[in-house]
Amino acid sequence: RYPLLFAPLDLGFTQLKNRAIMGSMHTGLEEAENGFPRLAAYFGERARGGVGMIITGGISPNSEGGVGAKLQTKEEAQQHRVVTDAVHATAPDVKICMQILHMGALAHNPQCVAPTAVKSRIGSFTPRELDEDGIEKQLADFAHCAAMARQSGYDGVEIIGSAGYLLSTFLVEKTNLRCDQWGGPFENRMRFPVEVIRRVRAAVGADFILIFRISAMDMLEDGMSWDEILILAKAVEAAGANIISTHFTWHEANVPTLATMVPRAAFTQVTGRLRKALTVPLITSNRINMPDVAESVLARGDADLISMARPMLADPELILKAQQGREDEINTCIACNQACLDHAFSARMTSCLVNPRACHETELNYRAAPAPKRLAVVGAGPAGLAYATVAAQRGHKVTLFEAADEIGGLFNLAKRIPGKEEFHETLRYYRRMIELHGVELHLNTRVDAATLRAMAFDEVIIATGVEPRRPLLEGIDSPKVVSYADAILGRKSIGKRVAVMGAGGIGFDVAELISHTGVSASVDVKVFAREWGIDFENHPRGGVTGVQPQVAAASRTVYLMQRKTDAVGKGLGTDNRMDPPADTEAAGGADDQWGRVSEDR
Ligand code: SF4
Repeated sequence: RYPLLFAPLDLGFTQLKNRAIMGSMHTGLEEAENGFPRLAAYFGERARGGVGMIITGGISPNSEGGVGAKLQTKEEAQQHRVVTDAVHATAPDVKICMQILHMGALAHNPQCVAPTAVKSRIGSFTPRELDEDGIEKQLADFAHCAAMARQSGYDGVEIIGSAGYLLSTFLVEKTNLRCDQWGGPFENRMRFPVEVIRRVRAAVGADFILIFRISAMDMLEDGMSWDEILILAKAVEAAGANIISTHFTWHEANVPTLATMVPRAAFTQVTGRLRKALTVPLITSNRINMPDVAESVLARGDADLISMARPMLADPELILKAQQGREDEINTCIACNQACLDHAFSARMTSCLVNPRACHETELNYRAAPAPKRLAVVGAGPAGLAYATVAAQRGHKVTLFEAADEIGGLFNLAKRIPGKEEFHETLRYYRRMIELHGVELHLNTRVDAATLRAMAFDEVIIATGVEPRRPLLEGIDSPKVVSYADAILGRKSIGKRVAVMGAGGIGFDVAELISHTGVSASVDVKVFAREWGIDFENHPRGGVTGVQPQVAAASRTVYLMQRKTDAVGKGLGTDNRMDPPADTEAAGGADDQWGRVSEDR
């Protein structure tokens, strides 16, 4: 099964047992009370789950680096030892590398530093420009941090040189206005990242994994050109990196690279092009969430290694299940970002929408029930499904009642929205869990209290969901007024000019569905590239410079209305929200306080 995914990779001084990597993701455990023992349990579970190498969330080399967790002192090194010991004890053949993250201008810290005092569009502070001494200090801190990582038991480090963090801001002209040896021509702009690699390699020795994360397509107007990326990658290789990891955006870019609307493996072709010019192994990533997708990326020759971060939150046993032919038991990451990245970027503890145990491994455990009961669960939406299958897994005898003719509740609406096709995976997973754990499922069955009483259950769990609120608006009884469920399920016809009242997540989903034309961009990379203005073939600067997004014309005009005067979409999750495209008209302050946006598609 998956011969390429399970092929070992020889790095000379060490070997990776397979091509599956748990990619870096900051969880919040790094700064939490008792966080390192919790991290040890979190990573230990993923190591047991079959992955070949783990890369931790970002750890700063110094306080300017901006992450709450840093590695500079012996005391800090001792905390990391808890994690590395746990992973190596659990799975001696699994490698663990620490990501060194210096946030530069994106640090939430008034002391933040950068090559030039240019404030990022999404930054909190204008950074202080580094002088020559400041640059030397940063270089020394990177090298010291890597040496401490080695002392802490890590098998390697990953240095992030992308995303708008410190190293990448040296590379791009708009964030590096210097005229000294660290700015100006590209050879000077890449001097700092390359010097970081040299210093780190010198500090850790030859037999330590050194991964460098490069922006292979930064999605910035006037970002890096393809030639510059090639020059940088070759210099990174020559400076001592063992592996290059490709990254596809800066956080401030306006192109989605992680959301569920992004096609699976959409960006791996860029890694593939870079791979042809290099000799070190390359990691690719982004929206690779199932083993067959990983295998086909490897088969195309796009990469040597596959990084999966969120999929490992959703299912710590993803790789093991793939190896054992249990793919239908994989709890697939649906790229919703709701409990992982949205939490990480708002300084909340990370978890996973489809796996609430993620990052709670020491406190949320499903132990065998000491006295199994007969349980009735009413409602087979996501809550009822989660309860029923976990209770059955623990040994209870569970009967699940659902009034509809299929499981899923509101997920059955969500899966119909163009760009949310991944929601089918969660329903597939629960169908299998019902079967696996012996839940007795009754579809098309609306139960009442008398029926449940007559069946003498020990306990009844009500998970029937919510009824949509019906606002008291003049005209609400007009035949022209349609509920969102009727609109999404196609139970009522929709006209050519439509007002969607409410611009929250559901309002956006309805607007997307009824204004959509043609194939869903999330299942076709070419359509996705056209709609977001990405040129994969010619790779202009940033992949996007001078490329106009083209969205197929809609067959109806949709007005998306909200009471708030904020920009529409502001309340949506940060990682699924992009700035409005240039052709979107936003107008607030109609008489009744409903703002509006005309979706021109
Ligand atoms: Fe994936 Fe959503 Fe879970 Fe994040 S919260 S890991 S995106 S399923």
